[in-house]
Amino acid sequence: MTTAAKRYRISCDCGAGLIVGPGNAGGRIVCDRCGGTVAVPRLREIEAFAVAEPSSPARSWRPAYGWLLVGSVVAALAAVAALAAPRLLGGGPPRLADEATIRAAIESVDAATIYQAWQAMRGAGVDRGTLPEELRQQQAAGAAGRIAAVFWTIAATGGIVAGAAGLGSLIGPRSSATLGRRPR
Ligand SMILES: [Zn+2]
Repeated sequence: MTTAAKRYRISCDCGAGLIVGPGNAGGRIVCDRCGGTVAVPRLREIEAFAVAEPSSPARSWRPAYGWLLVGSVVAALAAVAALAAPRLLGGGPPRLADEATIRAAIESVDAATIYQAWQAMRGAGVDRGTLPEELRQQQAAGAAGRIAAVFWTIAATGGIVAGAAGLGSLIGPRSSATLGRRPR
């Protein structure tokens, strides 16, 4: 522990707590909150403002926290993207001729008309294929579905990473050793 790592907490008139180092002793610093100038006690007096020595940053910042953060952010963003993909790409159920519309149209005319129409279509050799517009919608829906699936996979991966990191930071190396020894 070097003195350079020491930190002191002084307060501004506005109530903001300001963390300073020994190098600031006897000088002035600018308050982050109000922008006012705060006089820092001299080196002789500043010890009274010492804050608890921070444990080494490497120990307090566990990599698990980073993974927890990254995993959560990735999961959230990917889930949003997965939900937005079908809407953006115009996926979803085809809108041209749904079953209810066809049924309503058929019910509105008599059977003879339908038969005639059917005969005419057969006679003309009409094999009603997919309309270009329907094809476009089907393709868009398929693409949107695939993109959404990719994003859901990413979201799940992010969730797993975040979950594992969260679990790891909760358990920690010490208690995991205790967990290994199962009490009888
Ligand atoms: Zn202030």
